Amino acid sequence: MLVYIAGSGAMGCRFGYQISQTNHEVILLDNWAEHIAAIKDKGLTITGDVEDNVSLPIMKPTEATREADLIILFTKAMQLPQMLQDIKGIIGQETKVLCLLNGLGHEDVIRHYIPVHNILMGVTVWTAGLKGPGHAHLQGVGALNLQSLDPANQEAGHQVAELLNQAKLNATYDDNVLPHIWRKACVNGSMNSLCALLDCTIGELFTSQDGLKIVNSIIHEFVTVGKAEGVELNEEEITTYVMDTSVKAAHHYPSMHQDLVQNHRKTEIDFLNGAVNTKGQKLGIETPYCRLITEMVHTKEKILNINGSLSTVVGDL
Ligand code: NAD
Repeated sequence: MLVYIAGSGAMGCRFGYQISQTNHEVILLDNWAEHIAAIKDKGLTITGDVEDNVSLPIMKPTEATREADLIILFTKAMQLPQMLQDIKGIIGQETKVLCLLNGLGHEDVIRHYIPVHNILMGVTVWTAGLKGPGHAHLQGVGALNLQSLDPANQEAGHQVAELLNQAKLNATYDDNVLPHIWRKACVNGSMNSLCALLDCTIGELFTSQDGLKIVNSIIHEFVTVGKAEGVELNEEEITTYVMDTSVKAAHHYPSMHQDLVQNHRKTEIDFLNGAVNTKGQKLGIETPYCRLITEMVHTKEKILNINGSLSTVVGDL
């Protein structure tokens, strides 16, 4: 199969690298000029659990011409519409498109560009970081769940899961992936956004009862809105998942802290707490914590006059 990675930052490089170790062909697509130049000149450098350097084709999305069998979307959420616009030329009638971005509501965007029967939605707990242009740092083991958006086209989802498993990406076809997507968004929307705003590690967030109360209130808003949308969510199970994650990653500054505080990059808040607030408004459900957190993150982005810069080594959650 010809596989394009649309958005070849940290995660795109992980998936592109691992798939390139199979007999499938991989082309990286990206818009970051220094990253493209580094990979063209010196190959993609991998450090961490594996030390390697591989020669992989990389180009701007608008430069790709060959029709894709599979496109894996790995932009940041706010870059997604432009990416989909830019790759129109490589999307054929049979091209499958898998979305593994964090956050909520991406399927509504993708539907504007891709027929539903070719869309696959998923979520991953793999992590990755960039040390600089052309240099991905890969540590730890992960997994991913995916599902065909069109229930009549499960076969496509199974085929893609099989391809990803050839690349040792631990993919599972999931008959109900939406709760997993919401659960991960809930982790990102509680711990990540609060650690970014409070400039603290996950462990520090939980040193006070007040921190715990805010986390629980955010989880409650996510679950209330998700359930109202028909997503099967269990508040107790999600709370346990968030707490377990917080213990495992106590010393970690999560990805939104890395983006906002450390690297002054725009955050994905609109697709986490912001999405819950927007959906809540439409459903007539109050989500005061998600609304305030979204407004505060945007205020901080404005104060920092954010333009975007380098991802860091430590992965996302
Ligand atoms: P990333 O920031 O590494 O890359 C996203 C895009 O930003 C790429 O096109 C990349 O080239 C570009 N970019 C990165 N640094 C840049 C710079 N200094 N200048 C210009 N452009 C730059 O994003 P990611 O971590 O790969 O995340 C992609 C998606 O996957 C997001 O939705 C994220 O939430 C999700 N995710 C990330 C991880 C993780 O561990 N990184 C884990 C699970 C899910």
